[in-house]
Amino acid sequence: MIETAVLIVGGGPVGLALAGDLGWRGRDCVLVERSDGEIVQPRQDLVGIRTMEFCRRWGLVEAVEAAPYNRDYPQDNVYIAGSLAEGWEIGRYPSPSMNDARPPPESPCRRERCPQNMFDPILRDFARSHASVSLLYRHRFVGLRSERDGVVADIERSDTGERLEVRARFVVGCDGAGSTLRGALGVALVGEPVLTHTTNLIFRRAGFEALHGKPPGYRFILLDEDVGTWATIVAINGHDEWRMSIIRSSADGRALPEHEMRDAIRRAVGCDFEYELVSVMPWRRRELVAETFQSGPGGRLFLAGDAAHAMSPTGGFGMNTGVGDGVDLAGLAGWAGPDLLASYTAERRPVAERNVREASGNLGRMLSPGARPGLLERGPGGAALRARVGRDLATAMLREWRTLGIHLGYCYEGSPICVADNTPPPSLDPAVYEPAARPGSRAPHADLGGGRSTLDLFGRGFVLIAFGPSPPDPEPVLRAARMRRMPVETVTLERPDVARLYARKLVLVRPDGHVAWRGDAAPPDPLRLVDRVRGAA
Ligand SMILES: Cc1cc2nc3c(=O)[nH]c(=O)nc-3n(C[C@H](O)[C@H](O)[C@H](O)COP(=O)(O)OP(=O)(O)OC[C@H]3O[C@@H](n4cnc5c(N)ncnc54)[C@H](O)[C@@H]3O)c2cc1C
Repeated sequence: MIETAVLIVGGGPVGLALAGDLGWRGRDCVLVERSDGEIVQPRQDLVGIRTMEFCRRWGLVEAVEAAPYNRDYPQDNVYIAGSLAEGWEIGRYPSPSMNDARPPPESPCRRERCPQNMFDPILRDFARSHASVSLLYRHRFVGLRSERDGVVADIERSDTGERLEVRARFVVGCDGAGSTLRGALGVALVGEPVLTHTTNLIFRRAGFEALHGKPPGYRFILLDEDVGTWATIVAINGHDEWRMSIIRSSADGRALPEHEMRDAIRRAVGCDFEYELVSVMPWRRRELVAETFQSGPGGRLFLAGDAAHAMSPTGGFGMNTGVGDGVDLAGLAGWAGPDLLASYTAERRPVAERNVREASGNLGRMLSPGARPGLLERGPGGAALRARVGRDLATAMLREWRTLGIHLGYCYEGSPICVADNTPPPSLDPAVYEPAARPGSRAPHADLGGGRSTLDLFGRGFVLIAFGPSPPDPEPVLRAARMRRMPVETVTLERPDVARLYARKLVLVRPDGHVAWRGDAAPPDPLRLVDRVRGAA
């Protein structure tokens, strides 16, 4: 029998990020992962800007930048009619290589390209670096039973079948789209179980660009006359590994025979060439959100990542949304009042719903050209059609490439542990992020000089920022926090531009970096405020 505060089921990126954040906070957890952790086929490769802000907090930015992804490789998205070698480039959305990309003014970080086989090991090493974290690979979660103060989980060693029990106060299912924990809890999924049956093929070929002669791109989106957009080819490591996705590889999920896969690669590239077929992954693209993210007796069982929401990869939101779940949960765990953990569904489910919908919308936009007879004709009619289709597709796809609002602009609207101040809600345009310290939103970045950001102030406990040359007295709030043993640090910031950005003289920021409350003076009943934000009101 192993005893722990938090049992994490699943060691994909979300389970690892949660374990790492708990460990970073000095909290105790055990993670069980049924596999040996090797990534057979990397899925995610876009590490979004908010996830990179968490990496900054955890001291992992250098590790991400040092990953063996080719940082000189351009990140352009390219639309191709016909094959790469023989077809036409009908549009291109240029994006700089990682070496040339700069953070936007709204963040100290930039989004990164770091595929899962490079990113998971960074998260794993980070989680492992904390003495309070145990990672058990080749251990499969089988089921659980409730006890008075917690849960006892049955775990089986994947190689020997040996059984052991883990007693935990909380269990978090980060066990992916087919989550065993979600199944055991009987939590239903809401949405579309199948958008497409897709097959991903990873192939290895050095000097791939020389085969087709088109300028390099991160992603090539391939169109034909019969169905329109039918496949994509993505630069997985920026060197010699490529992922081709056959978007609708079958109507029923049947596995493609190898000769059909090889035909598809030939058709996409437009010539015969030597390559190594490294791995094949048939998968279902879904649009699903769990009806609740917290369940079980005493509300001790949680779902995070793909176990809670499964979305089309169009947009690169899946893992990033899951890491956001993990950071929210890790910030809540520990000294939580009864309502604190219950806030998890209220805060994270609307974010998941928005992102899942946006991802499906992106899929629809990518497939929007539909069948286009004449698209590959060599004459002027074909050229005019290609110009029109390219222009329309490039315009539609802009929405997928510009998503700062999705990554930074989510706000825990109506959260039971934030105190709303009745200021207008932020824009829901996925491209638009309006920095604001409105309760529920990410406390905004401001450059404090010397490479420091306001974001560097947040993370461990609560932070009460007092603004201005003669700020209001924070002591009533601090006294109330001490009475409740709620960890709060104070910071005074005099810079008028930062004070304007935060728009109130006192701003209380939670451990996850979201604003809990703001005002121009301590509230008349500071104990009530403290009880509210710690989930005990
Ligand atoms: C082609 C493709 C490209 C993508 N690109 C991006 C991208 O660029 N950016 C992005 O943010 N997202 C992307 N995604 C989505 C992203 O891959 C997922 O959202 C992410 O992997 C989810 O992480 P997770 O940890 O929740 O689940 P998973 O990665 O599915 O991990 C779940 C883990 O749980 C383990 N497990 C399952 N059952 C048990 C059990 N009973 N006991 C113990 N362990 C168990 C599994 O072995 C697995 O390791 C992409 C997805 C695809 C398909």
